[in-house]
Amino acid sequence: MPAIPLMIPDLPPAAAVLPYLERIDAAKWYTNFGPLVKEFEAQLLVQLAPGREDIRLVTTSNATVAIEMALQALHLPRGARVLVPGLTFVATGTSVIRAGHEPVMSDVDADSWLLTPAIASRALAATRIDAVLPVATFGCPQDVDQWRAWSEQTGVPVLIDAAGAFGNQPVGPVPVVFSLHATKSLGIGEGGFVVSDDADFIERIRRLSNFGIGANHGEVDEAGTNGKMSEYHAAVGLAALPRWQAKREVRLSLQAGYRLALQQHAPTVMWQDKPEGIPTILVVAMPSGVDAGAIASRLATRGIETRRWYCPPLFEHRAFAGCDAAGPLDVSRDIAGRLLGLPFHLHLQIDDVSTVCSELGAAIDDEQSHHTSPAALDFVSLPAKTAVHRPRRAARRG
Ligand SMILES: *Cc1c(COP(=O)(O)O)cnc(C)c1O
Repeated sequence: MPAIPLMIPDLPPAAAVLPYLERIDAAKWYTNFGPLVKEFEAQLLVQLAPGREDIRLVTTSNATVAIEMALQALHLPRGARVLVPGLTFVATGTSVIRAGHEPVMSDVDADSWLLTPAIASRALAATRIDAVLPVATFGCPQDVDQWRAWSEQTGVPVLIDAAGAFGNQPVGPVPVVFSLHATKSLGIGEGGFVVSDDADFIERIRRLSNFGIGANHGEVDEAGTNGKMSEYHAAVGLAALPRWQAKREVRLSLQAGYRLALQQHAPTVMWQDKPEGIPTILVVAMPSGVDAGAIASRLATRGIETRRWYCPPLFEHRAFAGCDAAGPLDVSRDIAGRLLGLPFHLHLQIDDVSTVCSELGAAIDDEQSHHTSPAALDFVSLPAKTAVHRPRRAARRG
């Protein structure tokens, strides 16, 4: 294991899960919408939409299948064109294809790194779009009220992939999918859920998650899949929820620690412009012209594990080679080349944060001076020097 690992999943210990496992033993009900799944769904709703009787929620086996089922439940025409951001996890795109539709690649906003309603409007003016699947990129929340207004204006349905954004992403006006994968903010191993104010939509997904079998005599009107959450996963979820608030506090203070340390040691990195939230992962962008891959290799030699999340961007995977783009993808490509996920987990000490940031700052300085070509060196030796030359800060490399 590296000296400073990228992530350490934090799931409830066996002792916290045990009482729920004993309830499963007693009830002998293991899956198919059992009592623990129902209780977990109710508690998630309390957490996400307290006092909102109109909001419904259905748990699933994971977020990828949840997106596939939610797309199916939208009843789009076969081969519908679904706008997806170029900068996202592959599952956003694979689920569109597996639902029988075509992903259409969209660029993202340069500051928030999100596919926004304004970008979707430009796409819609340029090409046919039958649905939009915006992503809460790296936990940055999508504006559900804006998307509702956009959807009402255009008649184009919107489904939000907020897989990694539990704790940040508001719910209600448009359907939202969350993941409960071990690496996400509320991890239970494998799991997911969909939230919406449309009760019929949620019931359709619930049926689809059980092969399409409806309440009426097991008859199947529409072919579904097996996308249910088991009682065992709900047991972990019920044990995880009470611990979530405390984890949230730790993550917030770690994030604050990172902000300070980066300002001090690596002031040229860019943050995703987003409201304060609970990051599950912490991603920054290298300054323009600095290749994140080189920085990652250098940090690895120092025992610091990083990851270039969402790289390569969606449209560079062979699985999506034939997909249309709604316009240029320059921002997605640029951010993908520069972004780097830094170590972020509940076992990280504040000293580790300083080490990561000072090593990062030193690596960026080195990379920038390496890339100064001989011609440029001549240039910096001219009087303009002070504006261009960045002194190497050897002291940082200790
Ligand atoms: C993690 C993730 C998924 C997939 O979630 P699973 O529960 O692992 O299927 C989908 N989309 C995004 C944006 C993700 O980050």
